[in-house]
Amino acid sequence: MRIEADLDRCVGAGQCVLTEPALFDQNDEDGRVVLLATEVDDGDDSAVAAVREAVHVCPSGALSLVDDR
Ligand code: SF4
Repeated sequence: MRIEADLDRCVGAGQCVLTEPALFDQNDEDGRVVLLATEVDDGDDSAVAAVREAVHVCPSGALSLVDDR
């Protein structure tokens, strides 16, 4: 599954980083999200759940998890 971030929507709130620091970071200039990974193994339930949680907590709806199958 693909992790996508819409940088035009990201407001740099950092909730994704707090939720899943292994997958998300913020850039130094404006705090917008930096994806540390763009794919998550759809067989890895805990990783998928972590991304879903980050998508859920993002206040601007900038994150999405896309199933390509
Ligand atoms: S939680 Fe959403 S708005 Fe905040 S930094 Fe992450 S992607 Fe951007």
